[in-house]
Amino acid sequence: MARYTGPVCRLCRRERMKLFLKGDRCFKEKCAVERRNFPPGQHGTRRGRRTLGYGLQLREKQKVKRIYGVLESQFRTYFSEADRRKGITGENLLVMLERRLDNVVYSLGFASSRAQARQFVRHGHVLIDGRKISIPSYQVKAGQALTVKEASRKNPFIRSSVETARGRGVPDWLELDAENVSGKVLRLPTREDIKLPIQEQLIVELYSR
Ligand code: SF4
Repeated sequence: MARYTGPVCRLCRRERMKLFLKGDRCFKEKCAVERRNFPPGQHGTRRGRRTLGYGLQLREKQKVKRIYGVLESQFRTYFSEADRRKGITGENLLVMLERRLDNVVYSLGFASSRAQARQFVRHGHVLIDGRKISIPSYQVKAGQALTVKEASRKNPFIRSSVETARGRGVPDWLELDAENVSGKVLRLPTREDIKLPIQEQLIVELYSR
Protein backbone atom coordinates (compact mmCIF):
# COMPACT_ATOMS: atom_id res chain seq x y z
CA MET A 1 0.00 0.00 0.00
CA ALA A 2 1.30 3.41 -0.92
CA ARG A 3 2.37 5.87 1.75
CA TYR A 4 3.06 9.59 2.04
CA THR A 5 6.77 10.36 1.62
CA GLY A 6 6.80 14.18 1.72
CA PRO A 7 7.83 16.48 4.63
CA VAL A 8 5.76 15.56 7.67
CA CYS A 9 6.11 18.68 9.83
CA ARG A 10 4.13 20.54 7.17
CA LEU A 11 1.24 18.21 7.91
CA CYS A 12 1.25 19.17 11.59
CA ARG A 13 1.49 22.84 10.73
CA ARG A 14 -1.43 22.48 8.34
CA GLU A 15 -3.55 20.94 11.10
CA ARG A 16 -2.21 23.54 13.57
CA MET A 17 -1.38 20.83 16.11
CA LYS A 18 1.25 18.24 16.92
CA LEU A 19 0.50 14.94 15.20
CA PHE A 20 3.69 13.31 16.58
CA LEU A 21 4.98 12.03 13.26
CA LYS A 22 8.71 12.38 13.90
CA GLY A 23 9.53 10.54 17.10
CA ASP A 24 11.81 12.28 19.63
CA ARG A 25 11.93 15.56 17.73
CA CYS A 26 8.23 16.07 18.46
CA PHE A 27 9.03 16.47 22.17
CA LYS A 28 11.83 18.99 21.65
CA GLU A 29 11.93 22.72 21.00
CA LYS A 30 12.86 22.01 17.40
CA CYS A 31 9.28 20.90 16.71
CA ALA A 32 7.96 22.98 13.81
CA VAL A 33 4.60 23.54 15.51
CA GLU A 34 6.41 25.08 18.50
CA ARG A 35 8.50 27.33 16.29
CA ARG A 36 6.10 28.23 13.47
CA ASN A 37 2.53 27.61 14.48
CA PHE A 38 0.89 28.80 11.27
CA PRO A 39 -0.05 26.89 8.10
CA PRO A 40 2.78 26.21 5.62
CA GLY A 41 3.08 27.94 2.27
CA GLN A 42 3.23 31.45 0.89
CA HIS A 43 -0.04 32.57 2.49
CA GLY A 44 0.41 30.72 5.76
CA THR A 45 0.81 33.87 7.85
CA ARG A 46 -2.24 35.59 6.36
CA ARG A 47 -5.26 35.80 8.63
CA GLY A 48 -7.72 33.35 7.17
CA ARG A 49 -11.43 33.00 7.64
CA ARG A 50 -12.69 30.71 10.37
CA THR A 51 -13.03 27.11 9.16
CA LEU A 52 -16.65 25.94 9.28
CA GLY A 53 -18.87 23.21 7.84
CA TYR A 54 -17.24 21.26 5.02
CA GLY A 55 -13.81 22.73 5.75
CA LEU A 56 -13.97 21.59 9.35
CA GLN A 57 -15.04 18.08 8.36
CA LEU A 58 -12.30 17.88 5.74
CA ARG A 59 -9.61 18.99 8.21
CA GLU A 60 -10.73 16.38 10.74
CA LYS A 61 -10.53 13.62 8.13
CA GLN A 62 -7.10 14.77 6.95
CA LYS A 63 -5.87 14.94 10.54
CA VAL A 64 -6.87 11.34 11.30
CA LYS A 65 -5.39 10.06 8.02
CA ARG A 66 -2.13 11.80 8.82
CA ILE A 67 -1.94 10.59 12.41
CA TYR A 68 -2.29 6.96 11.33
CA GLY A 69 -0.33 7.34 8.06
CA VAL A 70 -3.16 6.16 5.83
CA LEU A 71 -3.86 7.51 2.35
CA GLU A 72 -7.29 8.39 0.95
CA SER A 73 -8.23 5.15 -0.82
CA GLN A 74 -7.33 2.96 2.14
CA PHE A 75 -9.08 5.36 4.51
CA ARG A 76 -12.22 5.13 2.38
CA THR A 77 -12.03 1.35 2.59
CA TYR A 78 -11.79 1.57 6.38
CA PHE A 79 -14.78 3.87 6.43
CA SER A 80 -16.90 1.54 4.26
CA GLU A 81 -16.05 -1.38 6.52
CA ALA A 82 -16.75 0.71 9.66
CA ASP A 83 -20.13 1.70 8.19
CA ARG A 84 -20.97 -1.91 7.36
CA ARG A 85 -20.20 -3.16 10.89
CA LYS A 86 -22.62 -3.00 13.80
CA GLY A 87 -22.26 -0.05 16.18
CA ILE A 88 -21.32 3.60 15.76
CA THR A 89 -19.51 4.16 12.46
CA GLY A 90 -17.07 6.80 13.72
CA GLU A 91 -16.03 4.67 16.68
CA ASN A 92 -15.69 1.56 14.49
CA LEU A 93 -13.41 3.55 12.20
CA LEU A 94 -11.11 4.70 14.99
CA VAL A 95 -10.97 1.24 16.56
CA MET A 96 -9.95 -0.31 13.22
CA LEU A 97 -7.19 2.28 12.81
CA GLU A 98 -6.03 1.69 16.38
CA ARG A 99 -5.83 -2.05 15.78
CA ARG A 100 -3.39 -1.67 12.88
CA LEU A 101 -0.18 -3.54 13.59
CA ASP A 102 2.02 -0.49 12.94
CA ASN A 103 -0.02 1.51 15.48
CA VAL A 104 0.30 -1.26 18.08
CA VAL A 105 4.07 -1.49 17.52
CA TYR A 106 4.26 2.29 18.04
CA SER A 107 1.98 2.23 21.10
CA LEU A 108 4.11 -0.48 22.72
CA GLY A 109 7.15 1.71 22.10
CA PHE A 110 9.05 -0.61 19.75
CA ALA A 111 9.33 2.40 17.43
CA SER A 112 9.40 6.14 18.08
CA SER A 113 6.81 7.00 15.42
CA ARG A 114 4.12 5.21 13.44
CA ALA A 115 6.20 5.66 10.27
CA GLN A 116 9.16 3.93 11.89
CA ALA A 117 6.86 1.21 13.23
CA ARG A 118 5.56 0.66 9.73
CA GLN A 119 9.11 0.21 8.47
CA PHE A 120 9.95 -2.26 11.26
CA VAL A 121 6.91 -4.30 10.33
CA ARG A 122 7.68 -4.13 6.61
CA HIS A 123 11.23 -5.30 7.27
CA GLY A 124 10.02 -8.32 9.21
CA HIS A 125 11.25 -7.36 12.69
CA VAL A 126 7.88 -8.03 14.34
CA LEU A 127 6.44 -11.42 15.25
CA ILE A 128 2.88 -12.19 16.30
CA ASP A 129 2.51 -15.40 18.27
CA GLY A 130 5.95 -16.33 16.94
CA ARG A 131 5.04 -15.79 13.26
CA LYS A 132 6.53 -13.01 11.17
CA ILE A 133 3.85 -10.58 10.00
CA SER A 134 5.06 -7.92 7.58
CA ILE A 135 1.75 -6.20 6.82
CA PRO A 136 1.44 -2.82 8.62
CA SER A 137 -2.36 -2.77 8.23
CA TYR A 138 -2.78 -6.20 9.86
CA GLN A 139 -5.57 -6.01 12.49
CA VAL A 140 -4.40 -7.38 15.84
CA LYS A 141 -6.69 -9.61 17.87
CA ALA A 142 -7.26 -9.99 21.61
CA GLY A 143 -4.82 -12.38 23.27
CA GLN A 144 -2.08 -12.10 20.64
CA ALA A 145 1.53 -11.77 21.78
CA LEU A 146 3.90 -9.42 19.97
CA THR A 147 7.65 -9.78 20.02
CA VAL A 148 10.59 -8.32 18.18
CA LYS A 149 12.78 -10.78 16.25
CA GLU A 150 15.59 -12.13 18.47
CA ALA A 151 18.33 -10.59 16.31
CA SER A 152 16.67 -7.14 16.41
CA ARG A 153 16.12 -6.95 20.18
CA LYS A 154 19.50 -5.35 20.82
CA ASN A 155 18.88 -2.68 18.18
CA PRO A 156 19.65 0.59 20.08
CA PHE A 157 16.72 2.43 18.45
CA ILE A 158 14.27 -0.20 19.61
CA ARG A 159 15.83 -0.33 23.11
CA SER A 160 15.67 3.42 23.63
CA SER A 161 12.11 3.63 22.24
CA VAL A 162 10.96 0.90 24.62
CA GLU A 163 12.56 2.72 27.57
CA THR A 164 10.76 5.91 26.57
CA ALA A 165 7.47 4.01 26.24
CA ARG A 166 7.96 2.47 29.66
CA GLY A 167 8.23 5.97 31.16
CA ARG A 168 5.30 7.28 29.13
CA GLY A 169 3.04 4.25 29.72
CA VAL A 170 1.16 2.16 27.20
CA PRO A 171 -2.61 2.11 26.54
CA ASP A 172 -4.74 0.01 28.92
CA TRP A 173 -5.62 -2.53 26.25
CA LEU A 174 -1.95 -3.42 25.73
CA GLU A 175 0.69 -4.84 28.04
CA LEU A 176 4.40 -4.14 27.65
CA ASP A 177 7.23 -6.38 28.83
CA ALA A 178 10.11 -3.95 28.35
CA GLU A 179 12.81 -6.42 29.47
CA ASN A 180 11.95 -8.89 26.74
CA VAL A 181 10.87 -6.27 24.19
CA SER A 182 7.49 -7.92 23.85
CA GLY A 183 3.87 -7.11 24.46
CA LYS A 184 0.39 -8.52 24.56
CA VAL A 185 -3.03 -7.44 23.30
CA LEU A 186 -5.10 -7.78 26.46
CA ARG A 187 -8.36 -6.88 24.76
CA LEU A 188 -9.60 -4.94 21.76
CA PRO A 189 -9.52 -1.14 22.12
CA THR A 190 -12.66 0.91 22.65
CA ARG A 191 -13.29 4.58 21.86
CA GLU A 192 -12.38 5.51 25.44
CA ASP A 193 -8.89 4.05 24.95
CA ILE A 194 -8.16 6.46 22.09
CA LYS A 195 -6.96 9.65 23.75
CA LEU A 196 -6.29 11.60 20.55
CA PRO A 197 -8.29 14.82 20.09
CA ILE A 198 -10.53 13.53 17.30
CA GLN A 199 -14.15 14.37 16.49
CA GLU A 200 -14.95 11.32 14.38
CA GLN A 201 -18.55 12.43 13.86
CA LEU A 202 -17.24 15.14 11.50
CA ILE A 203 -15.66 12.45 9.29
CA VAL A 204 -18.91 10.50 9.19
CA GLU A 205 -20.74 13.69 8.20
CA LEU A 206 -18.19 14.37 5.47
CA TYR A 207 -18.54 10.94 3.88
CA SER A 208 -22.33 11.03 4.24
CA ARG A 209 -22.72 14.17 2.09
FE1 SF4 B 1 4.80 17.40 14.02
FE2 SF4 B 1 6.73 16.14 15.29
FE3 SF4 B 1 7.33 17.79 13.25
FE4 SF4 B 1 6.49 18.73 15.62
S1 SF4 B 1 8.39 17.65 15.19
S2 SF4 B 1 5.78 19.38 13.62
S3 SF4 B 1 4.98 17.17 16.23
S4 SF4 B 1 6.15 15.88 13.15
